[in-house]
Amino acid sequence: MHIQPHNCQHLIADIQLLLDGELDRHKENRVRTEMEHCPTCLQYYNSHTVYKKTISEKVTRMSCGHDFKENLLSKIRGL
Ligand SMILES: [Zn+2]
Repeated sequence: MHIQPHNCQHLIADIQLLLDGELDRHKENRVRTEMEHCPTCLQYYNSHTVYKKTISEKVTRMSCGHDFKENLLSKIRGL
């Protein structure tokens, strides 16, 4: 299998498409996997998803806060 060398400019172009929702699921997964191995590309992605990330964290906290607490308590009881 031929593996292309990582090219930040190339991947960042794909990340921009990802952020715009232009990529299909398969390609999105490939881009996400690749950027996790490159701090430069990951930094680019993170700096452009701060807003979206903040929103999703708030939603997660509201919907899962109780379960998380229960989960933690059951772990403590299990010790
Ligand atoms: Zn890169």
